Amino acid sequence: MKLGQDMDVLISKEQIAARVAELGAQIAHDFAGKELVLVGVLKGAFVFVSDLARAIDLPLTIDFVALSSYGEATESSGVVKITSDLSRPIEGKHVLVVEDIIDTGLTMRYLLDNLATRHPASIRICGLLHKPARARTKIPIDYLGFPIEDKFVVGYGLDAAEKYRNLPFIGVMREP
Ligand code: 5GP
Repeated sequence: MKLGQDMDVLISKEQIAARVAELGAQIAHDFAGKELVLVGVLKGAFVFVSDLARAIDLPLTIDFVALSSYGEATESSGVVKITSDLSRPIEGKHVLVVEDIIDTGLTMRYLLDNLATRHPASIRICGLLHKPARARTKIPIDYLGFPIEDKFVVGYGLDAAEKYRNLPFIGVMREP
């Protein structure tokens, strides 16, 4: 079976490309003249970061942080471990955290609190997707691609058991 045939398309690759271009233009406008660092959250944000970075017409740097939740629960516990840290200090820099999806928000809350201790000039958040129905902590998402319903989505970097990250659209697994 070809990749993605068992999926319903929730957000097409054309819709994603159009929205990423808009976000990039907005970010370029807002950060003009500032020292901008994109901080991508691995693994899920790797596709989004690579497209978004090319849509931001500004000098910038890119770094990554890898996080994992403790335990095997599918539900986020908010207890998060940094498994791979940033390669450079962010002190005095304007940080834009780029995340694939903000679900309960607990992961992002942990990351924001951690990054804040490193004294950046500012921290803003860019999320491709957000599930407002599931929010358990208030996260200010400064740049949002798409709000979505409470469904488990894959593709465009997002996985199900490490698969589907290379799907070019955001899909929802079809009910068998
Ligand atoms: P939060 O702490 O906001 O509940 O969880 C954030 C993380 O959970 C995301 O970075 C992502 O890895 C994972 N996640 C939440 N919802 C989904 C989803 O619908 N699909 C996939 N593939 N991962 C999700």
